[in-house]
Amino acid sequence: MDKIKMTTPLVEMDGDEMTRILWKMIKDELLLPFIDLNTEYYDLGLEHRNETDDQVTVDSANATKKYGVAVKCATITPNAARMTEYNLKEMWKSPNGTIRAMLDGTVFRAPIVVKGIEPCVKNWKKPITIARHAYGDVYKASEMKIPGPGKCELVYTAEDGTETRELIHNFTGAGVVQGQHNLNDSIESFARSCFSYALSTRQDLWFATKDTISKKYDHTFKDIFQEIFDAEYKEKFEEAGITYFYTLIDDAVARVMKAEGGFIWACKNYDGDVMSDMVSSAFGSLAMMTSVLVSPAGYYEYEAAHGTVQRHYYKHLKGEETSTNSVATIFAWTGALRKRGELDGNQELSTFADKLEKACVDTIESGKMTKDLALITTIENPTVLNSEDFIKAIRATLEKML
Ligand code: NAP
Ligand code: MG
Repeated sequence: MDKIKMTTPLVEMDGDEMTRILWKMIKDELLLPFIDLNTEYYDLGLEHRNETDDQVTVDSANATKKYGVAVKCATITPNAARMTEYNLKEMWKSPNGTIRAMLDGTVFRAPIVVKGIEPCVKNWKKPITIARHAYGDVYKASEMKIPGPGKCELVYTAEDGTETRELIHNFTGAGVVQGQHNLNDSIESFARSCFSYALSTRQDLWFATKDTISKKYDHTFKDIFQEIFDAEYKEKFEEAGITYFYTLIDDAVARVMKAEGGFIWACKNYDGDVMSDMVSSAFGSLAMMTSVLVSPAGYYEYEAAHGTVQRHYYKHLKGEETSTNSVATIFAWTGALRKRGELDGNQELSTFADKLEKACVDTIESGKMTKDLALITTIENPTVLNSEDFIKAIRATLEKML
């Protein structure tokens, strides 16, 4: 069989620990035998970030702007313990944070649904993708403890010095107060990322706020979404046969529980924080959760939602066997390859991505899986495989399909 050719490079961001080990196995077993893999490689492993004063992270984000599509391995976000472990010059920032800030993107997280790993919510049949706005609100709030009686106000001083005031409360005793903000630019970017990702995956988009109570703050989110939808996306949604649906956050929460799935749920920052943990744990496993950063300019960066699986890596270093689930990392590759195929009109590449995903799902559904899934599956007597044998089992399934 001839290997599949690629016309444009994919930005490849390598990472750390156990996921770095899986990264190589995935390339060797599932990609290189079938594709003439064309990537621009950036080593985001912590040692190399330290050597380059984190310039490599910035370079990889710039390359993503150049080529449009990236695939990223999980990386260590340094803390005090990592400073010593890796003898770091500085406590480098989270690469995901750096990349997200440079691409101005929104992160979409979606579970990989397989028979035998059943969601706790029994009517969820298709994935529910959560899009979380990653700027402002309570995460950038100013707070005060109010010690006793007194007047508390919001004051806006314009550049010309004029003041606008709004009473928060006339305190008659002690209490607390909080000032939140957001930016129209950020909300607009969030809205565009959500609409374009809905189009790109042909899924309905839901958005919800508490605009009935928050008539200025939340209502602005609602209005910005609606204005951008009407002006830029309405016709495209009609052509794609998908809908944009706005409702109140409490109504959305109730509807999600009764829905079948198969849509994107755009959430304000706090709602997304809370709801993404609820949705992902209800779907079963962090190791079966994918994540893609979508910028309003249409750049895509795919990764697994989990981290570097440190505990497994230390076992691996001691020569012990590991059973680490590579599915989310494989889906990061297939997501990126499919998108590359779409953008380049390379049907063969997109079809390969579909087949590799199906090979993962079929392998698990046939009862072969890693330990994390064996613990929660409804399949009787599953075969528990080690990290490497699981990837080899996927390759065997894939070869039968090709
Ligand atoms: P983690 O790597 O997600 O792992 C937490 C635990 O979840 C693991 O110990 C393991 O449980 C289970 N798990 C996660 N992924 C798994 C997989 N693929 N297969 C099987 N089990 C899996 O989170 P962490 O241990 O808290 O963080 C480790 C490092 O990852 C940190 O340095 C953090 O900075 C980094 N991190 C990076 C990203 C990213 O790059 N996007 C995201 C999160 C964290 P058991 O040990 O019980 O088997
Ligand atoms: Mg959280």
